[in-house]
Amino acid sequence: MNKDSQPRLSHVVVAASLRADQWRQLNATARAWASASSDAAAGLRDRCQEAFDDVLRLEHCWAYPGERLLIALREAFDRGDAALFSRLARKISAAILSGDYRRDEHVWDTDEEIDRSVLDALPPDIAGTQDKPYFEVLVVTPSDPAQWARSKEEMRRMRRPEDPFHYAAVHAGSFEDAALTVMVNPDVQAVVLVDGFGYASRHDIPDLKEFLSRYIHTRKDEVAPGALSLTLARTIRGYRPELDLYLLSDRSPEALAGSEEAASLRRIFHHVEEPMEIHLSILDGIKDRYETPYFDNLKKYAMRPIGTFHALPIARGKSIFGSNWIRDMGHFYGTNILFAESSATTGGLDSLLEPTGNIKRAQEAVARAFGAKRAYLGTNGTSTSNKIVVQAVCKPGDIVIVDRNCHKSHHYGFVLSGAQPYYVEAFPLTQYSMYGAVPLRTIKQALIDCAAGGKLDRVKVIDMTNCTFDGHMYNPRRVMEECLAIKPDLIFLWDEAWFGFARFNPLHRRRSAMGAAAALTARYRSKAYREEYEAWKAKRGELDPTDAALLDEHPLPDPDKVRIRVYQTNSTHKSMSAFRQGSMMLVWDDDFHHVEGPFEEAFFAHTSTSPNLQLIASLDLARRQMELEGYALTMRMTDLALKIRAAVNNHPLISKYFRVATPEDMVPAEFRESGIKDYGPPHSTWAQAVEAWDRDEFALDPTRLTLICGAAGFDGTQFKGMLAERFDIQINKTSRNSVLVQTNINNTHSDAALLIKALADLSREIESRLSQEGSIGQRVFDDRVKSLMTDVPDLPNFSRFHDAFRDDPAGASNEGHMRPAFFMAYEEDNCEFVKLGSEEVDKRLREGPEMVSANFVIPYPPGFPIMVPGQVITADTIAFMRKLDVKEIHGYHAAQGIKLIKPSSLAGRRAGSTH
Ligand SMILES: *Cc1c(COP(=O)(O)O)cnc(C)c1O
Repeated sequence: MNKDSQPRLSHVVVAASLRADQWRQLNATARAWASASSDAAAGLRDRCQEAFDDVLRLEHCWAYPGERLLIALREAFDRGDAALFSRLARKISAAILSGDYRRDEHVWDTDEEIDRSVLDALPPDIAGTQDKPYFEVLVVTPSDPAQWARSKEEMRRMRRPEDPFHYAAVHAGSFEDAALTVMVNPDVQAVVLVDGFGYASRHDIPDLKEFLSRYIHTRKDEVAPGALSLTLARTIRGYRPELDLYLLSDRSPEALAGSEEAASLRRIFHHVEEPMEIHLSILDGIKDRYETPYFDNLKKYAMRPIGTFHALPIARGKSIFGSNWIRDMGHFYGTNILFAESSATTGGLDSLLEPTGNIKRAQEAVARAFGAKRAYLGTNGTSTSNKIVVQAVCKPGDIVIVDRNCHKSHHYGFVLSGAQPYYVEAFPLTQYSMYGAVPLRTIKQALIDCAAGGKLDRVKVIDMTNCTFDGHMYNPRRVMEECLAIKPDLIFLWDEAWFGFARFNPLHRRRSAMGAAAALTARYRSKAYREEYEAWKAKRGELDPTDAALLDEHPLPDPDKVRIRVYQTNSTHKSMSAFRQGSMMLVWDDDFHHVEGPFEEAFFAHTSTSPNLQLIASLDLARRQMELEGYALTMRMTDLALKIRAAVNNHPLISKYFRVATPEDMVPAEFRESGIKDYGPPHSTWAQAVEAWDRDEFALDPTRLTLICGAAGFDGTQFKGMLAERFDIQINKTSRNSVLVQTNINNTHSDAALLIKALADLSREIESRLSQEGSIGQRVFDDRVKSLMTDVPDLPNFSRFHDAFRDDPAGASNEGHMRPAFFMAYEEDNCEFVKLGSEEVDKRLREGPEMVSANFVIPYPPGFPIMVPGQVITADTIAFMRKLDVKEIHGYHAAQGIKLIKPSSLAGRRAGSTH
């Protein structure tokens, strides 16, 4: 086999999938060797040698198969025993691919012929592990590798039947090996650092430095002598914050424990301490993450014999299993869900509205897991979570600088709270009929305009969607830093409806709201920042918030004034294992003590007094899953997405008709400072790709794939229907010429294969149809493609609020009183309708009086309001509406026409009045 064709670390993001490929390769080659004729055998043996070498380069990062099995494999190879070699290779690779090493002791054994009855007769500490969750513990130690087998055996002997989990140890002898193991082995859940290990890896891994350098910027020469353990702890924490870290040191643990650095450690042990103590601590750490306080109690509750005399007749299934007519309901849903239903808040069920028990603990666990200071569970989707947060932080008259394309819940939130939206525009991607995200320059311009109008003090919130439906990720660190330089107490609401998983993936986390809140907090507290700020200020002088020069510089906030005030909402059900409508609100607000009261009010205003128990339980479980396997799952979904991208765009036939939009297609060059065009090799190294994620103004989340189908002659809606009907592939969003495919934590390689096969089938059909239809057919096809891909309607910008809804119509800032406009429409006398196609519309555009929308008009797709209450309707908007070929337009009925506020009613309204 050609060495260069071997997948290498430098070519992958997810080494676990590289490993699976390598074992598959070794297994296949070994099988060929075992069944080869004698002349072919020598060549195949050499190929086995190469495949085996490839496998061995990384194998020290996993507890399974471990030394014993690898030695057996090596011996079989050296003896030329192809049959045994092949049998062992098959057994190991099958155990790795299936995950059987987690539950089946048998696959750990070198002896092929072990008798199951012997295994079953073993004491329960070995035989009883099948049902217990399994994980691996990384031990980083200066000890001689020759002793590691004994150390493993000692740790194994510590197992007790009553342990709730079981684990195996994997050893590393250096900083580099430890860092690599944490990155490539998602089974690692705890790390024991034994003081005294060195820096450099002892293994021959050619790509190691490149792989590590993507995420780790600590260099050997920067580490203070004796500080390696703590530096490694900090590094691991930065990469996988959910892991439990333990330090064994013979330095005085008491002194260490108080240090700032030790904060990232769960416990510090003195070297000679009882190993059992460490074992119990490790299990305890897992238990903290495994525990689901609300779900655990709900299970107990469901098992108790309870007579109910409250509302909710279905509780315990009594009205169902006793029914003559709806018993199938019980059969379909099963008994447990009915036993777990209750309208009580007693029996330890706690109250979502006033949590004091296990809901409170569940929320604390969410805050810990997602890196927030506080967390609230939401049971009516992020639609409601957004309204809660908007209403908690805004009062009438406050200005919110907001992406006009944000989800409708925000706009309704402004109506409810009386906050004045200052609409800013995302950059358009006209060619795909969609919007990107709002440039930082646009946000700064809005702040400057408000400052010029003397109302910067009223600007309360910056409200953006991160990432957008189509995958545009902001750089929240940069956005918040530059805005905070202009106004140091701004509140940021990041709608991360799609992005809740981001915390658990080191790539995405750097672009998440909570990741940014943590990074900025640390930055502004550091001495280095203070120096950077002082130097900047000395050069620049006092910052004037009306100064247009701010647009072209990166201003720095004053560390003595800046407040970190960040709110995140996420639709847990969209990216994690929660039931529909399960949502979270995360808070990192230095001034939350001022917000807590209003937050509670807003929560009460919007939350049902009968919140769904199963939703709350599923949020608790979604958190558990992410804290224990979020890294593995989010890495896998990223890997799958990258593979689909490459498979579609590099396929000779598919790529003639279909294409997945790349970062270059989706992010204009001015916002992609790195110049990066696509993900990883051959377009860039992975280190450069990660660097671009750190620095570029916008980056594209690879798991959100805009699949362009216009070149195949399909519009988005048509293509979506076809995928569903013919191929059982469901997708959600469409545009004029594209559909959005997203990978999620549930997707597998088979799902990816299904999609690729569908595209290949369709491409073949198009080819054969075109070849039959000849030049006429080709012309019809080309016209269709042109109409979809080239003749696309311009996207209308937000025009402005009518003067009647503005405080200073002459000013540059565009915020308006949307709430009074909204309620004016409640009086029928204030409203009139004009037909979209009518001559009257054109006449009023030409001659006036201005047409002012009475309500929200929101077409699906694209799903953003093209009109809001009080907005002046311009020719752009009308042109867009007339070209729009979607059926679902919320707030517009073709038979009635566009609903307007009458000019006479507008005239009667005093400009700027809130009433
Ligand atoms: C889906 C979505 C919402 C609404 O969330 P639900 O959980 O469906 O109520 C809000 N904002 C964005 C950006 C969304 O994509």
